[in-house]
Amino acid sequence: MRIVLLGAPGSGKGTQAALLVEELGLPHISTGELLRSAAKAGTELGIKAKAVIDRGELVSDDIMRELIAERLSQADAKDGFILDGYPRNLSQARALDKLLSRIEQPVDEALQIDVDVDRIITRIARRAAEEGRSDDTEEVVRNRMNVYSDQTAPVVDYYAQQGLLTRILGEGSIEEVFQRIRGVLQMRTVS
Ligand code: ADP
Repeated sequence: MRIVLLGAPGSGKGTQAALLVEELGLPHISTGELLRSAAKAGTELGIKAKAVIDRGELVSDDIMRELIAERLSQADAKDGFILDGYPRNLSQARALDKLLSRIEQPVDEALQIDVDVDRIITRIARRAAEEGRSDDTEEVVRNRMNVYSDQTAPVVDYYAQQGLLTRILGEGSIEEVFQRIRGVLQMRTVS
């Protein structure tokens, strides 16, 4: 199963992806994590990406396309994956479709986790205090939210038009949200 997780920063994609990994035994591919570990490792790509991330902007589509193509070509991704943080704009969505159709592994399901903006701001403020991510400051978060509504929200419609999108309410406990996701995936596998 090839799943794309969509949702604003702080919507809980990463948390739900981790639970899905346990349940489905598929790799969690988080572009944010890939970029942060490249930055930590001090690679050329990582250093360039960090400057962009710290402004709350998007790393270039070309860099992202190479990064994702490389990651999806690894052996653990051949039976499926949970993609978190990619695609983040329409051009990335088209690039992903191209890549996946070349390997005959199209996206099966796009899940959009819906959370109200006020709640997102509270969650990110808490995460900033707990994890100290350099892009969780108030100004950068505001920028990330704008990038999300301008560039990533259209990706939701892109998958909806292909009949692949399910919206999930991301409020309530982590477990409640996860049960909603499980319900959707169970429906897909029996239908
Ligand atoms: P969040 O979902 O909370 O915004 P992520 O960890 O997914 O956090 O992403 C952090 C940052 O990494 C983004 O703000 C962006 O700068 C960069 N990034 C992650 N994925 C992509 C992508 N697909 N395209 C461009 N930039 C990306």
